[in-house]
Amino acid sequence: MPAESVARPQLAYDELQAIQKELDKCMHCGGCMAVCPVYATNKTEADVARGKIAVAGAVLEGSLKLDDPEVVDMLFNCLVCKSCMQSCPTKVDFGRIMLALRAAIVREKGLPWLKKAIFSTLKHPELFDRGMKLGAALSGIAFRKVGENGIAPRSPFAFVGKAVDFDENRWLPALAPVPLRDRQPELVKIEKPVARAAFFTGCSMNYFYPETGEDLIQVLKENRVEVAIPKKQACCGIPVFVHGDLETIRELGRRNLDAMEATGAEYLITGCGSCGGAWQHEYKEIFATDPEYAKKAEYWAARTYDISAFLLDVIHYRKPTGKVEAVVTYHDSCHLKKTMKVSREPREILKDVPGVTYKEMANADACCGSGGSYVLTHFGTATDIAERKVNSVKDTGADTVATGCPACMMQIFDNLHRFGGEQKVRHYISILAESYRNEQSS
Ligand code: SF4
Ligand code: SF4
Repeated sequence: MPAESVARPQLAYDELQAIQKELDKCMHCGGCMAVCPVYATNKTEADVARGKIAVAGAVLEGSLKLDDPEVVDMLFNCLVCKSCMQSCPTKVDFGRIMLALRAAIVREKGLPWLKKAIFSTLKHPELFDRGMKLGAALSGIAFRKVGENGIAPRSPFAFVGKAVDFDENRWLPALAPVPLRDRQPELVKIEKPVARAAFFTGCSMNYFYPETGEDLIQVLKENRVEVAIPKKQACCGIPVFVHGDLETIRELGRRNLDAMEATGAEYLITGCGSCGGAWQHEYKEIFATDPEYAKKAEYWAARTYDISAFLLDVIHYRKPTGKVEAVVTYHDSCHLKKTMKVSREPREILKDVPGVTYKEMANADACCGSGGSYVLTHFGTATDIAERKVNSVKDTGADTVATGCPACMMQIFDNLHRFGGEQKVRHYISILAESYRNEQSS
């Protein structure tokens, strides 16, 4: 048999035709309409999974083209939150359809210049790191301080930013002057460890929420887990993958897989649903036809845990005894719940903390509107979606909203003030870390 004709798996991200069997599963019932956050705002068929599946079918038949700007706009008006997949009776893998279509757009048209410029900095992590540190050092020029460790554009930047919805009401977490990975050694040693875990910090925790990352490390130390934090790790690649940039996520994925292999760790821990989803699922898929990296991706996929699942189900963590007086509600990050299937574990941890009164919010797993960069490209829709989330938070009477994803923390922080909420926004792991700290001080 000639070498070219040897069968190899068809990756939907490389060959659009491979999504046909997913499209065929759709029975056009419209069940996805009830849960789609974009449809709840815009009420148009084109915004819901069923409508996009019809467009995908037309593209495969050739009656619609991926270089049609209307088709492109429609295919990018989706958070890839996967809410529709939860309620789909025939289990259509809509996330795969959406990402395969976006990858096909990039194959056909290339990336727009701005995305190309931004994404190429991610391929050079040292350069990206220098840029983030410079941004932190200069942020006082363009931003003023707001809320708890937040910043907002100041005049005249806010005036100029209005054109792209980046005005004085946009609250962001401040960039940390010293990122997490610069604060910690590459190996946090512990006497007589029960395990060694590699911590994949992700960009948001590294640059915006280093204290949350330190809380996660503290919790692992409290449970006698040695923590490897390789400095060579880079962005997980999900922010570029959702824009169809397969080349960049593959480059980042290879770098990350090599960095983790060098740690000698038995487990890989994340505190972000998107990063964890990349390790558990996406790397396996995008490297399926790469003989060297497929094995590495499979290896780490089986050893990747969100910190809550690791504490509860792997090492059976030590229950904290320090008091944290707070009324807490919990928001399910889409990627944490719908990709990593983690939703029970953070709630159990919160309920284990003495002093915490837990209040479940309505529609806790409804998307907050962040969608990674969706909030940057579709600010109006993202803000409408966030308003519903803030109302659910406020209705609980909680003083704290906890979640398991830094991007959700940013989005909720930005919208609480906009819609009259006064809650603190915290990663659930920080509440557990505080409880451990409080038992030491008492
Ligand atoms: S719920 Fe599933 S089967 Fe029904 S229209 Fe939506 S994608 Fe198709
Ligand atoms: S992934 Fe989310 S935003 Fe996209 S169609 Fe499904 S429910 Fe709607």
